[in-house]
Amino acid sequence: MISEFVRGESIRQVLTTLQRGKNSSGVIAGGTEIMRLGSRADYTNLVSLQNLGLDTIKKVNGVVHIGAMTTFTTIRHSEVVPSYLREAAGFCASFAKANMATIGGNVANLRDDSYLLPTLIAAKARLIIADISVDGTYNEENIPLREYHEFMDHFSDSLILAVELNRKDRVVLNQRFSRTAHGNAAITLAFGAQIEEGTLKEVRIAAAVKGTGIIRLKGVEEGIMDGQFLEPEDAAMMVGSEVAFTSDVTGSASYKKYLLSSSVADLYRKGLALAEKGGKA
Ligand SMILES: Cc1cc2nc3c(=O)[nH]c(=O)nc-3n(C[C@H](O)[C@H](O)[C@H](O)COP(=O)(O)OP(=O)(O)OC[C@H]3O[C@@H](n4cnc5c(N)ncnc54)[C@H](O)[C@@H]3O)c2cc1C
Repeated sequence: MISEFVRGESIRQVLTTLQRGKNSSGVIAGGTEIMRLGSRADYTNLVSLQNLGLDTIKKVNGVVHIGAMTTFTTIRHSEVVPSYLREAAGFCASFAKANMATIGGNVANLRDDSYLLPTLIAAKARLIIADISVDGTYNEENIPLREYHEFMDHFSDSLILAVELNRKDRVVLNQRFSRTAHGNAAITLAFGAQIEEGTLKEVRIAAAVKGTGIIRLKGVEEGIMDGQFLEPEDAAMMVGSEVAFTSDVTGSASYKKYLLSSSVADLYRKGLALAEKGGKA
């Protein structure tokens, strides 16, 4: 049960409060996950990020900087946010939730049906994070989102200040499968690449697989870049060896395998078609 609610007045004060409260303290952004019935978050002390001015989007020298407190609705309507991220924000079908849910909260949440993480990983997004060491030294870092995701325990005391997209020509394609627009997704997939001289480079494929987690299909990524696959369907064959699927209310393990495999082939085919046209849709 929540016994203390503090309005954060500065980033440093938020971090100090978190450090003092150890595991019982957490930050609250939009609150859609923390306040959700059945949420895993069980903090007794909450620090609000509402007043820290972290809710702006700007584009400087081609880099899109999205404050951690930016809501899904603001992202959807922004003219500077790339269309692939606007599309992913649209995966949240509830207007009420989209008006509250933030990009920082979504990244930190690491849900296995995450709306945004596959897209952000495929886009090679970066995070600006802040933390405070035991001796009180304040530190800000710009790290790949991939690193935050892979070493989550290491960053559990960090505050996400912003998400940055610095690959202006990156192509990212998304697909999400759920029974209804409001339901939990069985699979959310994103395929990202740079297009150079008609070929796909720096391929990154990330998926949120319900019951399994957020995964990267590294074998498929490497196979595509090494030219191992004659047809997109050949890439799909590899998916089963990279992911352990489970059955749940969103679908059986074999259904999820089918969805992920066929959508990997589909997005790869679309990526090849874009590459042929030099990246133009
Ligand atoms: C009915 C319902 C269905 C949902 N379905 C989905 C779904 O299908 N997919 C999905 O991805 N989400 C879903 N959510 C969860 C939620 O709406 C989103 O994940 C949302 O983006 C969380 O953002 P928030 O700002 O509301 O986070 P909050 O609830 O405020 O916080 C979530 C977590 O992130 C931490 N946090 C927040 N901001 C930061 C920060 N800047 N730095 C570090 N840690 C931070 C908090 O301490 C907390 O642990 C659902 C929620 C509800 C109520």
